Amino acid sequence: MSAERDRALMVERLRADGIDDPRVLCAMRGLPRELFVPAGLAAMAYQDEPLDIGLGQTISSPMIVALSTAALGARADAHVLEIGTGSGYGAAVLSRCHRSVVTIERHAELAERAWASLAMTGCTNVEVRTGDGSLGAPDRAPFDGIVVTAMADTEPPPALLDQLAPGAALLCPVGHGQEGVLVRYRDGRAEELAEVVFVPLVSGLPARR
Ligand code: SAH
Repeated sequence: MSAERDRALMVERLRADGIDDPRVLCAMRGLPRELFVPAGLAAMAYQDEPLDIGLGQTISSPMIVALSTAALGARADAHVLEIGTGSGYGAAVLSRCHRSVVTIERHAELAERAWASLAMTGCTNVEVRTGDGSLGAPDRAPFDGIVVTAMADTEPPPALLDQLAPGAALLCPVGHGQEGVLVRYRDGRAEELAEVVFVPLVSGLPARR
């Protein structure tokens, strides 16, 4: 089946499962997800499951990306931050829905690959950084929304909450091991959105190989 048709079916599934944000559906309808997964997994790019992208990391499932972007509730002119670039697909969806995106990945190799995929798909409003995302990007703050795509132990890193613009939301999965709950933090309140599976948020940078 063609990628074009797979993409249309993926969007129909997301719509049937309750995603109704037209900006998110349009972004996902237009982005070639197969360019964000390792070549050997291209045939699985549109299935609703996380896929292995190397270095023990995963690209989140389409549903998780759609849910997080929609739940952020940020305007089209928003400046947003993503922690955990991984494949770059989440950043690509955020970039098609907002004015500008900063995304931070602790593995330099993944950050470089994500940058290439973002360039290939014409996402020119994304800055990819290698670093510890728990510290955020104070030089580019405040953000109109922040999405953390790795699981925090009990609460989001405090530096991230400090970098939110007034009234903006921070989405962060919280839990032990890989299973937890996606929580939306806004105006001092925490709202549980869905049960989720994520790789852990790890502080510091990996040892050089
Ligand atoms: N948004 C990604 C999902 C990536 S999985 C996508 O669409 O593909 C989570 C990513 O978070 C992994 O690549 C992992 O290396 C990264 N990560 C974990 N802890 C981090 C930290 N403290 N700072 C930056 N990246 C981190």
